[in-house]
Amino acid sequence: MPELPEVEVIRRDLEREVVGRKIKKVDVGEMRAIRRHPNKKHFIGQLEGRKITRLERRGKYLLFTLDDGQTLVTHLGMSGQLLRATQSRAAVQKHTHVVLTFTQGGQLRFRDPRTFGEMFVVEDGGMDAVPEVAELGVDPLETPLSWEDFGRMLTARKVKLKPLLMDQKFLAGLGNIYSDEVLFTAGLAHDRHSDTLSTQEVRRLYRALVETIQDAVKYRGTTLDDNGYVDLGGTPGEFQGHLRVYGHEGDPCRRCRRPIMRRKTGGRSTYFCEACQV
Ligand SMILES: [Zn+2]
Repeated sequence: MPELPEVEVIRRDLEREVVGRKIKKVDVGEMRAIRRHPNKKHFIGQLEGRKITRLERRGKYLLFTLDDGQTLVTHLGMSGQLLRATQSRAAVQKHTHVVLTFTQGGQLRFRDPRTFGEMFVVEDGGMDAVPEVAELGVDPLETPLSWEDFGRMLTARKVKLKPLLMDQKFLAGLGNIYSDEVLFTAGLAHDRHSDTLSTQEVRRLYRALVETIQDAVKYRGTTLDDNGYVDLGGTPGEFQGHLRVYGHEGDPCRRCRRPIMRRKTGGRSTYFCEACQV
């Protein structure tokens, strides 16, 4: 599932590739991809003729600002991909549900084999009516935050660290992969309670969070399988080669050489080193 770093790589690609372009035509295949709209015509009518003026990200949501003030919101869900076709006649891949054709310069295609992702248009100023976006917590890349502020946020919550890091209302954009990586880098156990951290541990966790996200963006995200995340040009990320614990069950820990453990909690796997994370 794409997390903050993957969505940020796509945002930067989109900023370069589609901002300033005018949407000539919209084609929708699978209604589920635009399920918040009553019908295809309603969605299409809000987009055709509009120009994309800005590209923002909130957690895992991409926000395309349109020249009439409306916003096209996109969430990639489990398996969504945004792909740029510079030639409209380039072959369309299976599971492509929405195609935006620009007046000049090809198409933007939304592909999603598992269809948990979606696109929807929000009216000017209407983002408060979208609680999933309006209630998002601090964004580790965008929100200016000191480690002291972060420490106060942790103390106020008194819950286990891993589910807290993945709670979108607390921190926006982290999922299963990066929460495991952040906790390993910080040397903290996934089930430590957030209000039990020392000052030094808070600083370590904050630094691990910021550095892990920045590194993952630098290596253009994590691609774990064939149908996984790709950037706007269809190229997989490279951060999977830099993961230290996620997907590494049984491999020697980079710090202490003991085998990395995997534990299933709430239908999710958590990867960690028992010796290095306390
Ligand atoms: Zn270790």
